[in-house]
Amino acid sequence: MLEIGTQTHPRPHQAALYILLYRNQVLIEADNQFLIPFTHFQPNANMSAVYCGQWHGQDIFVCRFEAIPKGFTETGLRELLFLQDQDHYLLLSRAHQLATWDRDHQFCGRCGTPMEGKHAKEHAKMCSSCNLRHYPRISPCIIVSIRKGEQILLARGPQAPKGRYSNLAGFVEAGETLEQAVAREVREEVGIEITNIRYVSSQPWSFPHQLMTGFFADYLSGDITPAPGEIEEAAWWPIDALPSIPNAATISGQIILQHVEHIKQSQSRST
Ligand SMILES: [Zn+2]
Repeated sequence: MLEIGTQTHPRPHQAALYILLYRNQVLIEADNQFLIPFTHFQPNANMSAVYCGQWHGQDIFVCRFEAIPKGFTETGLRELLFLQDQDHYLLLSRAHQLATWDRDHQFCGRCGTPMEGKHAKEHAKMCSSCNLRHYPRISPCIIVSIRKGEQILLARGPQAPKGRYSNLAGFVEAGETLEQAVAREVREEVGIEITNIRYVSSQPWSFPHQLMTGFFADYLSGDITPAPGEIEEAAWWPIDALPSIPNAATISGQIILQHVEHIKQSQSRST
């Protein structure tokens, strides 16, 4: 498990493991191995190596490359994440989000001064001119599975493959609670009202820095009216005849399966 402690961040060293990124790709060795020992890769002094924390007692660093170094091949972050257990998933997500923060905060957003120093104990860059601190950005999002009797709502956005259906999801707006965001997204995307909105679980989704928060909700009123340009199709699907849904490594797939199980249990209790 990853320890996100408050110890002083170490410099790269020989006993650490390294995660190497090239654009949105992860550099791997044989068998999709993405944790690279020092014997296979040594960061040079010009390279920004961001400390990710201790993972099973070992220090982990992430480094970003402009070209693929010899001896490594690249693989898509998304594809690699789907192959991981929860422990490796969270480590890889964190490494990617910290590397993105490091790349995207080269200058102070308030006064434009180049950001040079990092805080010794936390992931913060401090502006030497105006003292503003820049932390890794985390963008809260909601994702919701909606029940109507023995059916759940599944929708397909314009980007989704044909025949693949998923939950409704969206970013939380400034000043909004998570529950308000759930109700608003559902109203905007399919034109229905929901009730009994309750939190289920969460998952970091590093494309590039979302924190997905998963909810269940119950249908209240209205007819499904897909928002043009946002939703291609949306419908109520019987839980025993679902279409193709997202991979169970994603929170989307997980909350669909959990909701189906929950509905089946409530049916068996009522009979
Ligand atoms: Zn500044």
